[in-house]
Amino acid sequence: MKKIADVVIIGGGCMGASVAYHLARKGVTDVTLVEREPMLGMGSTGRNAGGVRHQFSSEANVKLSIESIRLFERFKDEVGQEIDFHQDGYLFLLNDETNLAAFSRNVAMQRRLGVEVDLITPDEAQRLAPGLNVEGVIGATFCARDGIADPNGVTMGFAKAAQSRGVEIVRETEVTAIRTEGSRVTGLETTRGTVSTRAVVNAAGPYAKAIGEMVGLEIPVLPYRRHIFISEPIASASSPGAINQAPANRIMVIDFETTFYFHREGPGILFGMSDPTDPPSFDMTVSWEFLEEVTRVAVQRLPRLAEAGIAHAWAGLYEVTPDAMPIIGAAREVEGFFMINGFSGHGFQHSPAAGRILAEIICDGSAANADMSPFAYERFALRSGGGEATVV
Ligand SMILES: Cc1cc2nc3c(=O)[nH]c(=O)nc-3n(C[C@H](O)[C@H](O)[C@H](O)COP(=O)(O)OP(=O)(O)OC[C@H]3O[C@@H](n4cnc5c(N)ncnc54)[C@H](O)[C@@H]3O)c2cc1C
Repeated sequence: MKKIADVVIIGGGCMGASVAYHLARKGVTDVTLVEREPMLGMGSTGRNAGGVRHQFSSEANVKLSIESIRLFERFKDEVGQEIDFHQDGYLFLLNDETNLAAFSRNVAMQRRLGVEVDLITPDEAQRLAPGLNVEGVIGATFCARDGIADPNGVTMGFAKAAQSRGVEIVRETEVTAIRTEGSRVTGLETTRGTVSTRAVVNAAGPYAKAIGEMVGLEIPVLPYRRHIFISEPIASASSPGAINQAPANRIMVIDFETTFYFHREGPGILFGMSDPTDPPSFDMTVSWEFLEEVTRVAVQRLPRLAEAGIAHAWAGLYEVTPDAMPIIGAAREVEGFFMINGFSGHGFQHSPAAGRILAEIICDGSAANADMSPFAYERFALRSGGGEATVV
């Protein structure tokens, strides 16, 4: 490992890899990315559902999506890696008037920003996702350009492209301390020795808070366990009323009120749901009792799931901020300390834009085409409210 680098990135998930790629594209290649696991993408990135959507409630997040989805669409040509991106759409099911009104406002805002998204009827929703039971649904929203991509492909694509431009990637190496002089970063300590640097990027996902503590900063990111289950094979539906089957394509369906979601994954169905009673922790063991709860909701929306066994299950960690918005940028208190943290369960899809923005902040002091105030670290001390409401 190098003893001196212009920039050191802590964490080799989609965020760290994207920052490395975007720095290298700007010609900053004296960069070391440090990951403690044997491979990149073994944290939240390797455990996520691959969902990519324009449909957020905050304008800032929709703009991150517009930029990121444009890159996903041309990832092979621009970054050089296949990412298995299927744009079969995201369908949000709405069961009460309050949510329907909020989503109607979101659709108007998203359309104003140029996103082709529609408010649709329950019948139209059922036609889009054959096998779906729309009982109790009073409306839905659908955006055809939303979809599912491969998180590992995206991370490895960014990492390999960065490496080919000269970025160093070091695995099985843990950052144990960050050195400062006065209020300035001067280097860091790792299990493989020390590195001198004037710029450190915190891309440690759910462990962002621990990295902040190394420089005396309180980063409000908490880890929350989230489960994913994959069913045994379920036949593809041939007609909308085919209640014993499931959609053939990879449309993502989200029952917003319960947060239950599913999409096709190979021959089976991938599904999950949030557990509001699960307290923050780093526990990633699968709770089989929780599966019973998910199944109760799942069979109402996709009845065919009642008869399918579970082929595979895992849990991962959301990295959640108080307003469900990320922190992207510098910390005024510690010169040379940068954050790309707290994406609150939807970071994979924003990694292209977020990495571009942070690379520009590191190199130029500010980012083009981005209002940074919703992402500023300082916002937590200054105000409350606002934030992102379309969280599952
Ligand atoms: C079940 C589940 C489903 C999800 N579904 C979606 C989805 O559909 N769409 C979406 O956009 N997002 C989704 N997410 C969220 C998404 O996975 C995260 O927002 C994103 O992966 C965060 O990326 P990251 O690079 O910041 O974190 P990570 O991928 O966790 O990477 C951080 C890395 O830092 C390393 N690290 C930590 N501390 C140190 C240290 N001291 N020294 C060295 N290395 C260190 C870790 O080992 C890790 O590899 C989901 C998450 C989960 C858990």
